[in-house]
Amino acid sequence: MRIDEIIATSGGEPVFSFEFFPPKTDEGERNLRETLEDLRAFDPDFVSVTYGAGGSTRNRTVELTHWIKRDLGIEAMAHLSCVGSTREDLQEILAGMERAGIENVLALRGDPPRGETEWRPHPGGLSYSTELASLIGENYPFSVGAACFPEVHPQAPNLASDLHFLKQKVDAGASFLITQLFFDNELYFRFVEEARAIGIDVPIIPGVMPITDVGQIKTITGMCGATIPDRLMAALDWRSTDPEAVLQLGVAYATLQCAELLARGAPGIHFYTLNRSPATRAILSALRLLQPWVRREVVRTA
Ligand code: FAD
Repeated sequence: MRIDEIIATSGGEPVFSFEFFPPKTDEGERNLRETLEDLRAFDPDFVSVTYGAGGSTRNRTVELTHWIKRDLGIEAMAHLSCVGSTREDLQEILAGMERAGIENVLALRGDPPRGETEWRPHPGGLSYSTELASLIGENYPFSVGAACFPEVHPQAPNLASDLHFLKQKVDAGASFLITQLFFDNELYFRFVEEARAIGIDVPIIPGVMPITDVGQIKTITGMCGATIPDRLMAALDWRSTDPEAVLQLGVAYATLQCAELLARGAPGIHFYTLNRSPATRAILSALRLLQPWVRREVVRTA
């Protein structure tokens, strides 16, 4: 089923999704497939599979997405970036996705290769995700999603410029957006408000990453430009020699973060799992028990 339809027909229930990346080895892929099989019991609305910056894992994106949808019966979305591909290469990949019965694609530009800071499109390729969204919208039957950045994309000069191009991306056919990870919900709510003010009216699903390891989250936020609030950073540093305590804090923090997002109107949560789902499963289980989105209705009618 198309994700835009899943959201439109959810009847106010939040849409929960899990993101995974294709492992580099066969053993890693076997482990991931077991994780995904177990995930069925948690009934996610969809699972998404990232697209590597290059190399062998790229083919695995389509294979894994196809397998999740066909064999597990979970709706799935393949990510696709413009990095290292000509327009024709992208058309070939998209045709393969269509043959595989995939219905959802996250259209991305991708990042410059490691060591380079400036984005240069591949010769004969596409410059921005908007062009990929147009290419898909004009030629393929997919539901197209795209990325957005509550803390402003690291290469954008400011929020106004980033939102201007985000609007173009939506006009080109992106029918839902997934945010970069963030840890301060006010960033998300402000971003949504600014986006609505310039006419971006598609669902904006917050992307949440439960912190499970201090070193790892510092590396990831350093790369993607997300900030960790000082008080959270201090609490993590204080526990940095106790991995279990970090994990417990990470799960507790993300659960409260998601509860507030849903209580204040977010259409769902996209979990960045880093291929390890126990933390996400615990958070999702607590959310389903607590149902903060139902309390939202009570507040509204009170
Ligand atoms: P774009 O929308 O093209 O924007 C990039 C920059 O260009 C922004 O600063 C924007 O303001 C600016 N811009 C846009 N259009 C124009 C224009 N016409 N003229 C001038 N400037 C313009 N990366 C991967 O490699 N694989 C993945 O699977 C992957 N999955 C992701 C999933 C999510 C939910 C998110 C949030 C990110 C993901 N990324 C992935 C990372 C993403 O590719 C990078 O963050 C990348 O730097 C930006 O991608 P984009 O699609 O938002 O780019």
